[in-house]
Amino acid sequence: MKSMNGLQAAVLAMQDAAAMVRTYVPGYPITDLAVALKAEISVNEKVALEIALGASATGRRALVIVKQVGMNILADPLVISATHTIGSGLVILAGDDLGPRGSQAEMDSRFFGPLAELPLLDPRNPVSLHASILEGYTISEWLRIPVIVRVTASLLADEGPEISSRPGSGVSQHFDREGWDLTMRGRHQRHHDRIMAFAEEACESTTLNRLEISGNVGIIASGRPAALAEGLGVSLFSVGYSNPLPTKLLRRFIDGHRQILVAEEPEPFIESRLACSPKVKGKLTGHLPRGPLGRADIIRALECLDRASVKRLQVYESVAERGYAGVCDGCPFIPLFRALGKIDVSVAGDAGCAIRATREPYQSVDVVYGLGSSIAVASGFAKKGIALVGDYALAHSGLQGLINAVWQKRDVLVVVLKNDVAAMTGGQDVPDLTHLLEALVPTCRIKLPALEDEVELMIREELNRLGSSAVVALGRCTRHISSQVSPGPSIKDPQG
Ligand code: SF4
Repeated sequence: MKSMNGLQAAVLAMQDAAAMVRTYVPGYPITDLAVALKAEISVNEKVALEIALGASATGRRALVIVKQVGMNILADPLVISATHTIGSGLVILAGDDLGPRGSQAEMDSRFFGPLAELPLLDPRNPVSLHASILEGYTISEWLRIPVIVRVTASLLADEGPEISSRPGSGVSQHFDREGWDLTMRGRHQRHHDRIMAFAEEACESTTLNRLEISGNVGIIASGRPAALAEGLGVSLFSVGYSNPLPTKLLRRFIDGHRQILVAEEPEPFIESRLACSPKVKGKLTGHLPRGPLGRADIIRALECLDRASVKRLQVYESVAERGYAGVCDGCPFIPLFRALGKIDVSVAGDAGCAIRATREPYQSVDVVYGLGSSIAVASGFAKKGIALVGDYALAHSGLQGLINAVWQKRDVLVVVLKNDVAAMTGGQDVPDLTHLLEALVPTCRIKLPALEDEVELMIREELNRLGSSAVVALGRCTRHISSQVSPGPSIKDPQG
């Protein structure tokens, strides 16, 4: 019998759903999926969702694929779209990086369900991923709201049986202008009374729920832990929706069992809603570890379920233990990282290759927050400092920080690592914003690699300049050797 993994199941579901407008922002664990779906890269997640909203409003099904930290960026139009409604179906695939391998934060995207007041489906295996995406479009079109489907790296890699295609393009429906007759409060009231009330019925009756009864101990599980918890000789309620939760079914399941274990990852999202029952155990009671779960974790938790709580010795994961991919050998930006390490000013880095210069042997970057954050962060430094930003991060949201710095007459030196690719996420092309930079601030270029002393001298000179300015450091990424670097003068090209 042929098998199908989660990624293939998602691709089949998107073919079946005929969502023609597909946008994404690369990042682990969703880049391969987005490429397989031939999605169009967007400058950032907010833009990716806004394009999808426009497609939906004009009668086209749409898909947005982002990683968990990307959900933070698209949260604004997401929350607003819930009560403003949409046209045709819109599904957001949120990729959670559990036990983060390529992210600056560990997050649980399920929290965006209640935050945005939108349905969130959490499939357990490839078969339920395919079914969840199709149900997502059905619910989205029926209730005229976006639907979130959560995926993880493990789910996308999991193998399951071959899935039969179920094509259906839905109904092409446009944005309903009648909503403008209601105030914002009125739309929110309508959302609670009608839209989410129907979603609450759907989550109780969906075929995505799976119930197996065996004995007086039960597991409530969501996502991949539901697949891990199969065949353990206890009852299992695998919930299809993490938001809204099927509260009637959950209550009956809890009432019918002596002890309950909630298996989910990475956070105690469902458990925290059920924790008022002393029967309920999970991560909050220490029976299960925070973060991703293995089948052995669930078996161990079942063995001590009669204890009210379990004390866990917490060993904080260290870089030394896990290993660290530092700056690549032969990286053209090494002279810059070394030079920055010798200059005694604060340096804000960006999520991207700059984050690799935080540790030994460079230690040239002091703080790193989200993608595109470095310019605004450096604008807040007590003394003039440096923002080290990748060219994709600049396009993602860094440019707003620079516009603000110019507008508010901040004193910051922006150093752009320009390699023309999003190097950390697979080498996707990025827009060339050099002319925009030149229009905003005095801008120099330096071609790397160059002598470390020359780089240091140039940075020191630029730091002496009053106000904000930029250095564009041009280098060919050796990891993505096919990348092309925009031609530029060899050392210094002052502009303005
Ligand atoms: S991915 Fe490219 S730019 Fe980033 S550290 Fe490696 S060689 Fe340098």
